[in-house]
Amino acid sequence: MDYFPAFLNLRNRPCLVVGGGDIALRKARLLSSAGARLTLVAPDMSAAILEFAQQRDVALVQREFTAADLDRQWLVVSATGIPAVERAVFQQAEEAGVFCNGVDDIENCSYITPAIVDRGPIVVAISSAGSAPVLARKIREQIEALLPAGISHLATLARNWRGRVRSKLGDLLSRRRFWESVFEGPAASAAIAGNLAAAEAHMRAGLEAASGDEETAGHSGEAWLVGAGPGDPGLLTLRALQIMQKADVILHDRLVSEEVMALARRDAEVISVGKTPGCRVNSQDEINALLVKLVSEGKRVCRLKGGDPFIFGRGGEEAEALRAAGQRFEVVPGITAAAGCAAAAGIPLTHRDRSQSVAFVTAHGKDSVDNLDWPALARDRQTLAFYMAVKRFPLLMNRLIQNGRAADTPVAIIERGTTPRQRVVRGTLGQLSLLAEAHRIQAPAMLIVGAVAALGDDVVRDEPQSSIKYDNSQYSIQNKRQIK
Ligand code: SAH
Repeated sequence: MDYFPAFLNLRNRPCLVVGGGDIALRKARLLSSAGARLTLVAPDMSAAILEFAQQRDVALVQREFTAADLDRQWLVVSATGIPAVERAVFQQAEEAGVFCNGVDDIENCSYITPAIVDRGPIVVAISSAGSAPVLARKIREQIEALLPAGISHLATLARNWRGRVRSKLGDLLSRRRFWESVFEGPAASAAIAGNLAAAEAHMRAGLEAASGDEETAGHSGEAWLVGAGPGDPGLLTLRALQIMQKADVILHDRLVSEEVMALARRDAEVISVGKTPGCRVNSQDEINALLVKLVSEGKRVCRLKGGDPFIFGRGGEEAEALRAAGQRFEVVPGITAAAGCAAAAGIPLTHRDRSQSVAFVTAHGKDSVDNLDWPALARDRQTLAFYMAVKRFPLLMNRLIQNGRAADTPVAIIERGTTPRQRVVRGTLGQLSLLAEAHRIQAPAMLIVGAVAALGDDVVRDEPQSSIKYDNSQYSIQNKRQIK
């Protein structure tokens, strides 16, 4: 963060504007609308400034700026457009310990002003730290479109009710929940639509019904089994994001990326249940028990899993545990690794001419590999998407080929798909073990087998990655030895 964002209370605080032209006037208007006590200094002032000063009780000083003008000021805006003056104002301000903004002159600024969306009392400020003001303004337009004009009524309604809500609902948790239900409920819709009487009535009824009672709070816990997608935060669903923003506790797997976790509510309790050494909770039974315990304490728990919770995610077991405990829960699907990785590598999982079906297969554990229906998996014209396969590449390769899948069937290995560290390695089924070894493939990686795996090797992505393709001949000798 290059600049520290803050909202200043300038009401009745002395602020100085240096300059007598249009820009100075624009800045003076803005400061005055925030209630600042203004002084303008410049040898020449436009007629518009003289008029403005009369209406708004602004002190005018008609001469050159001097250091003494900074005395007791909080802020100074320098808008003369004369480089030497701008520089002098900034240097004097630095010496006097007064924040200074040289308009459109980042060198002479100790503070900069953001692009703003003003829906008072809601104000959104956007800054690019001076590096791309036009981009900041574009973002402002998008936010403007996103925020209904009536949001200001809603914020005013909340301000009017804050005290009453605080005295009725003693604890923080029940207050937070009350406000969340207000902002998602009929009071909010009425306020945004400008129907303030109806909004007031909904607030009265809502607060009447709400209870800060510990016992009631104890019964209102719930859980969401949420898919976080394969890594890229852009692949989260809106629903997943909403839940991550309102949960009290987030239980997440090792596979959930840091970029995704950065979107969680800041004050949520975050518990890693990564099933890796050092984690507080390791076995599935322990995770189920923790989940049930947290919900029974009245917490809103987001159980965040890589990909989709119901595809090799053991979400089914967690759902059963919650159901058995009589607890409320909802499942929010996510983009599973096969879909995410295939898309990132430009591989269509099915293809009219090449593949009529796709199987999601787990290669975890030797037993489960032995229990797979190999003759069926070895059949042509289908795509196989193997999860958890990195340690089993030689076995998969041999079983598929022994059961009749051609050794020149294309394969693609996608490591850390959809993340900035994604690698895509391509070749044939017969080369699989050697490819993985040569490129030191590490989990998490997805293996895609089938004619479609040859497609998309020209895919372009913004992030750095290596996309490596082998021709069929390169490892042919070693292949034969390996397949035997
Ligand atoms: N529920 C998850 C799968 C969990 S099993 C889902 O729907 O995607 C874990 C396996 O998923 C990993 O071993 C790997 O094979 C695959 N996987 C998950 N994220 C991945 C990623 N970003 N890139 C490649 N493979 C990934």
